[in-house]
Amino acid sequence: MTQVLHIVGGGMAGSEAAWQAAEMGVDVVLHEMRPKVETFAHQTGDLGEMVCSNSFRSDDDEQNAVGLLHWEMRAANGLIMTTADTHRLPAGGALAVDREPFAETVTARLKAHPRVTVSYEEVTALPEDGNWIFATGPLTSPDLGQAIQAETGAEALAFFDAIAPIIYAESIDMSKAWMQSRYDKGETEEERTAYLNCPMDKDQYEAFIDALLAADKTEFHEGETAGYFDGCLPIEVMAERGRETLRHGPMKPVGLTNPHQPDVKAHAVVQLRRDNALGTLFNIVGFQTKMKYGAQTQVLRMIPGLENASFARLGGIHRNTFLNSPTLLDDQMRLKSRPNVRFAGQITGVEGYVESAAMGLLAGRMAAAEILGINLPQVPQDSAMGALIHHITGGAEAKTFQPMNVNFGLFRPVDGLKGGRRGRKDRYKAYTDRAKSAWSDWLEHSALDAA
Ligand SMILES: Cc1cc2nc3c(=O)[nH]c(=O)nc-3n(C[C@H](O)[C@H](O)[C@H](O)COP(=O)(O)OP(=O)(O)OC[C@H]3O[C@@H](n4cnc5c(N)ncnc54)[C@H](O)[C@@H]3O)c2cc1C
Repeated sequence: MTQVLHIVGGGMAGSEAAWQAAEMGVDVVLHEMRPKVETFAHQTGDLGEMVCSNSFRSDDDEQNAVGLLHWEMRAANGLIMTTADTHRLPAGGALAVDREPFAETVTARLKAHPRVTVSYEEVTALPEDGNWIFATGPLTSPDLGQAIQAETGAEALAFFDAIAPIIYAESIDMSKAWMQSRYDKGETEEERTAYLNCPMDKDQYEAFIDALLAADKTEFHEGETAGYFDGCLPIEVMAERGRETLRHGPMKPVGLTNPHQPDVKAHAVVQLRRDNALGTLFNIVGFQTKMKYGAQTQVLRMIPGLENASFARLGGIHRNTFLNSPTLLDDQMRLKSRPNVRFAGQITGVEGYVESAAMGLLAGRMAAAEILGINLPQVPQDSAMGALIHHITGGAEAKTFQPMNVNFGLFRPVDGLKGGRRGRKDRYKAYTDRAKSAWSDWLEHSALDAA
């Protein structure tokens, strides 16, 4: 009997997954709730609708990780990238598209595919059997959200992200910062030195609070509620509640001794915590923020030790539905508790159109391979695709898991290259060369295994 792949959600990830599986020879039913059921952000009933900006970000495949992801998706005949190329608008080094014809073409190409059927309906339960990919995105319908929560547990599904900025470790000035856990707590040396600390004196703290209060902030989208506020106040809101609030919260200076100035008690301390197993990324603890991106970099670089910080991602707070993928999903993006169900796209804890489509591409291929009885080789960790899937399904810290953009901090370091800003160009070129070669090999071997 022919097995059908059901894909729920026809956004960036679901559309790409459907295309990839169909191209591999699997019959696909794509279930999309729009236009019957609307979200607060989508405007049409089209598949592949871009909900906000019309940009797929940088198209530089040598010096930029998202540009590299474009390259890898083009090499895999990705629907989203090839359609974006058709509707490209002039935007310097970025890949911007004419959004309406883009989504219309995604819809038309899927509907014209002999192996794809589009079914306009809301799916509200996780099925017991059959082959399924759920790619319902940040605005997963409430009934389905409840069903996922019932299966995974309340702690494992979030309805908002509260993203603290993430910084490349190599850009932190360790002549000012130091590694220490509060009160040296922990059983092992690694635990006792788990945090990276940046000290502030009184003047620096006061100037920092002034800058926070004056910074440009992003407004909420219509339909986003602010009900999350109690659990994760943005730092600028804490500062508005009182100039000392942060010093009694995430910036409290207690239990720490600065080895660079052991006799000076810091007035406040900003703490950073490892964000990935590789130790290349650090997030600023408790620093979720709604400051605009330009303001964020300016304000955060006032922190001693972070003057030259490079940001792997900036902070934000949004309506977002996402799983704690490092604990829930296996390396094939299957739900461990229900392996006939895969997840793909933003709901797996990646962030952005491109990353979501990329995870759809992998999920579509993996599901199709399973149906066809093909053993796909492991996605190479040195490719952008591999770095991202490895991060969400295991490399990220599960306890503090928040959605992630693709960035070079997710890549294994290339040996023998200069660190710091000066070596950046050569390093990024080495990452992208290595990734392209690994990804091309993978595509070739996947095709051979399928033959
Ligand atoms: C307000 C807002 C603004 C954003 N702006 C940007 C931006 O500017 N740039 C960027 O890169 N990213 C942005 N994002 C993130 C963006 O949504 C994702 O990057 C991307 O669209 C995620 O792709 P996806 O396929 O996972 O989800 P989506 O593209 O949202 O697709 C999910 C699909 O599932 C459908 N669906 C949901 N529940 C069900 C159900 N129960 N049954 C059937 N169908 C269902 C939805 O209708 C939707 O079509 C924004 C998100 C939001 C909420």
